Amino acid sequence: MKAAVLHGVDQPLLIEDIDIDEPRAGEVLVKTSATGVCHSDLHFMEGLYPTRFPVVLGHESAGVVEKIGEGVTNVAPGDRVVVAFVASCAICDNCVQGKPYLCTGGQGLGRHDRLSFGGESVTQFAGMSAFAEHQLISASACVPVPDDVPMEVAALVGCSVMTGVGAASNTARIEVGSTVAVVGCGGVGLNVIQGAIASGASRVIAVDMLENKLASAREFGATDVVDASSGDPVAAVQELVPGGVDYAFEAIGLTVTAEQCFEMIKRGGRAVIVGMLPAASSVTLPGAAFLGEKGMIGSFYGSTRQTHDMPWLMELYRQKRLKIDELISRRYDLDGINEAFAALKNGEVNRSVITFEE
Ligand SMILES: [Zn+2]
Ligand SMILES: [Zn+2]
Repeated sequence: MKAAVLHGVDQPLLIEDIDIDEPRAGEVLVKTSATGVCHSDLHFMEGLYPTRFPVVLGHESAGVVEKIGEGVTNVAPGDRVVVAFVASCAICDNCVQGKPYLCTGGQGLGRHDRLSFGGESVTQFAGMSAFAEHQLISASACVPVPDDVPMEVAALVGCSVMTGVGAASNTARIEVGSTVAVVGCGGVGLNVIQGAIASGASRVIAVDMLENKLASAREFGATDVVDASSGDPVAAVQELVPGGVDYAFEAIGLTVTAEQCFEMIKRGGRAVIVGMLPAASSVTLPGAAFLGEKGMIGSFYGSTRQTHDMPWLMELYRQKRLKIDELISRRYDLDGINEAFAALKNGEVNRSVITFEE
């Protein structure tokens, strides 16, 4: 099958013919329909997070079940599914405590025995490797897609929509009437904005350095925008909401903006880190702030319980209560994937989607 293979840090993706295994017990072979191009993939391409090379990235995807392994009962061949990038083992402590997104018994970040190239092992990323025509995934990572939800929409539910909306509604559990700042208005940030509005926030202040991103933020429901290229964004947010906001979300993946989010919140507020801070980085917080019960928490995958949350998000989309079509700025085929990443780096798009032949 055709896949976009990454052979090392800062190298272009090469479209190559690689081999994929047959589904084992509990696994499913999915034919990929659409895969979103996400900033998290870029972090691995740029070496900010470690992986073993060669690797096939891609973790925001939907497809059609083609084959199932022994014991699989939740899906059948022909089913349209979103592929979650965390599989749930159902028996580890975190799964039992209702936090399947922190599962410790699943596949982890990479597996090395499912994909190969001329006999050499190729790392399977996030248990899926979605920049490829087929994916071999855990059946627990499959969430059925309603017939009237387009596959490219379902794909985005698999990462950016879930990560962003879930950060607001599941991780932070924003209360009605809260004030919110969202720093970074890319694919994830726009969904934090939607999640904050859906949770009843009274003010949602979008912060970005690019005018086109701030325009998108308004379309997605931001009540105020702050252009961080023209002054101190912390002061600007504090001016809009004296004393600071209840919640500030970091949706870029930089320590400087993480620290700014902590400065933007009021006493008792929460800074929520949604972006992937570089693996080797550290955040510095002022000690006295903890006397004001200020806190910083991480949010991973929107704290998703995927088989509950993804159908919920797709239902909101069907009722036109969640914008997802508007997130998709461009479509590419697999051969255009390096162009798609260049557009992402340049801040030209909300989201690009790689589409595959039916
Ligand atoms: Zn992602
Ligand atoms: Zn588990």
